[in-house]
Amino acid sequence: MSAPRKRRVVLLGSTGSIGTSTLKVARELSDRIELIALAAGTNATKLAEQARETGVKHVAIHDASKEAQLRSLLPPDVTIHVGPEGLVTLAELSDADVVLVAIVGTGGLHPALAAIEAGKDLAVASKEILVMAGETITNAARRKQVSLLPVDSEHNAIFQCLDGHRGGEKEVSRLVLTASGGPFRKLPVEDLPKVTLAQALKHPTWDMGRKITIDSATLFNKGLEMIEARWLFGIGMERIDVVVHPQSIIHSMVEFIDGSVLAQLSRTDMCFPIQYALTWPERLRGGLRPLDFPALAKLEFEAPRDEDFPALKLARLAGLTGGTLPAVYNAANEVAVDAFIEGRIRFSDIWAVVHNTMDQHQVNPATTLESVISADASARLIASETIQGLIS
Ligand code: NDP
Repeated sequence: MSAPRKRRVVLLGSTGSIGTSTLKVARELSDRIELIALAAGTNATKLAEQARETGVKHVAIHDASKEAQLRSLLPPDVTIHVGPEGLVTLAELSDADVVLVAIVGTGGLHPALAAIEAGKDLAVASKEILVMAGETITNAARRKQVSLLPVDSEHNAIFQCLDGHRGGEKEVSRLVLTASGGPFRKLPVEDLPKVTLAQALKHPTWDMGRKITIDSATLFNKGLEMIEARWLFGIGMERIDVVVHPQSIIHSMVEFIDGSVLAQLSRTDMCFPIQYALTWPERLRGGLRPLDFPALAKLEFEAPRDEDFPALKLARLAGLTGGTLPAVYNAANEVAVDAFIEGRIRFSDIWAVVHNTMDQHQVNPATTLESVISADASARLIASETIQGLIS
């Protein structure tokens, strides 16, 4: 019997937190997963190191000024692609089976669409692109008959709970996304404005990149995930709920109309959802350790503090209104998070900036990519003006 064919993967965002975990998964399953191309934003040194380790023949770097440095670090048979077009070229490589998009922010949008148009399955870590252009991406995936494989742990959990379910969406009562609650779950509301960057970057259960760690502290991450779930699973926003589960062992749940709930559990390690997305529809024995139930002691649940952390209410409004409003929610949050990281606004101002930007936005249908890109640009402008108003 011949050995099963390896799945050939293009990894966009290889130098980040998800990217590094993906390399780990590929190392453990080297007989089944082959990385064939890697892309990063600016970190030429780490990208070159990863390219030498994996033996890929194609790399892309968004920052074109790093090309010469990259060239000096790589063997001559490795082709270097640069800029946004470089990422699109990798996404369309004829050898690829699946493209994993793990770029922070919206830089992954064009490569993701290019991958779908080229007939590749798309593994999605970058929730921002589904929030921004969920309709365009899901329509394109349906038309090209490619699979959208969720990497975000919550959506991967729901994907696992629904996998093999024959009854379809009408038998699903609601999706329940779990949230750790972040580092300020118990902080009194009056102390939220005083939160420092260092405190916001200390996540209680997950080790992730900076942007998503701040988003977890404000609950914008969960808000983005609600909208992401709406597109991935074709379930209305009114049937997507959030419950705080501080241990982050249950990664999300599906409640069915008969009242039964299916949940997916594992350790807090992104290698679990990455491996499932890259090996689906199979389950393989990789290097991941199962749970030790007696050591878990207890699993707790509580309602999110909707009034003190308004990110979820704003997400629900964006998702229910639809059109360009989710793109605005995402863009305004990105601008506000940058301003908080740079020390220009307070932690609690992030909510105010997004709220004000959404209030000022004239919602349009999001049926074309141009409409969401234009909404994204105008939201960034309004958010920047709002920030200017807060600090002057
Ligand atoms: P990181 O900040 O750790 O990494 C981001 C990656 O994107 C880096 O490889 C970076 O390259 C690259 N990058 C940034 N901008 C560009 C660009 N314009 N072109 C090409 N590459 C670019 O982020 P994370 O890994 O934490 O998150 C990545 C995505 O996955 C986000 O959308 C996040 O929401 C999502 N996600 C992350 C989870 C996690 O556990 N980390 C969990 C679930 C979802 P460089 O290093 O050169 O800057």
